[in-house]
Amino acid sequence: MFFNQNLKIDEIAKKYSFKYKAVKSILNKSKGKRSFFLEDYTINPYMGCSFDCSYCYINGSKYASNTKEFFVKENALEKLKTQLKNKAIKRERAIIMVGSATDPYMPIESELFLTRDILKLINRYRYCSHILTKSNLILRDLDILKKIKNGSIIPEDLKRKKDPKNGKTKENKESKESKENENLKMIVSFSFSTTEDKIASIFEENAPRPSERLKAIKKLKKEGFHVGASLMPLLPYITDTEEAIHKTFKDLKKAGAIYALPAGLSLFGSEDSGSRGSYFTKLREHFPESLEETSKLFKNKNYANQNYYNNQLKKLEEIAKGYEVKTSIV
Ligand code: SF4
Repeated sequence: MFFNQNLKIDEIAKKYSFKYKAVKSILNKSKGKRSFFLEDYTINPYMGCSFDCSYCYINGSKYASNTKEFFVKENALEKLKTQLKNKAIKRERAIIMVGSATDPYMPIESELFLTRDILKLINRYRYCSHILTKSNLILRDLDILKKIKNGSIIPEDLKRKKDPKNGKTKENKESKESKENENLKMIVSFSFSTTEDKIASIFEENAPRPSERLKAIKKLKKEGFHVGASLMPLLPYITDTEEAIHKTFKDLKKAGAIYALPAGLSLFGSEDSGSRGSYFTKLREHFPESLEETSKLFKNKNYANQNYYNNQLKKLEEIAKGYEVKTSIV
């Protein structure tokens, strides 16, 4: 089911090399609300991601056996309608993260409007949302994003805060924190590994350029949204140097980003396959000078050593302070 019955869905899927797949559930309970995403539930309208970034964590990991296959969740709207209706009857309120696993604004979305229709349902049942994307196509749905921002009901845990005297949770409708939390009804995070178009064109060939994402941040900030960046991942020895991080924060600050969430690179698969294979191929071609260091950093593991991540975080937090950009959403 799609809201627009006149869509030629088979032709659209063929054009973008997608297939349709029915799913058992579309709204998935988060295993634990992560402080950096604040999500209670996640929704991914599509499976696989046609942006195909060379460092993409789904490539070669347990999340995807074949990242060259893309699917539209054909029954997403029926499933979501039922699931949201049931939760709304129980008065359960939540932040629903759209695009936690794959981008909700891939090129096919420009013709299929599935993410848009999902947002309409989120708005109908007055849920809050957090969208994560690399695409400025999100601006097409500004009308719905505004409705969610103005009409959704904030979950209790974001409405309340602990009384420092007795540790109990109490409502703080008049507090500054409570008012700030009202902005969390509609959060938009743009994902960046760099703000440099030239570098992005190597590692994220098929995604909209960072300059387009920065323009979208500017527009959404002007419209009063809680908008920021997810620096997931910064690329070792390329976009994680002190100089590169300064440039990234300078660009984000100029665009109006409120926060930038840090995260390091992870690599899955072998030297010839998965994200490890595709990332190392790009390094060999474009950044041979950082190949050996990167190889040493990861050895044969999926993650770099913990010292690297700790040092990166420390460096990034210090730089972020200087630009008055938060490193968390709240
Ligand atoms: S946009 Fe995100 S999900 Fe899509 S390929 Fe790139 S890193 Fe993976």
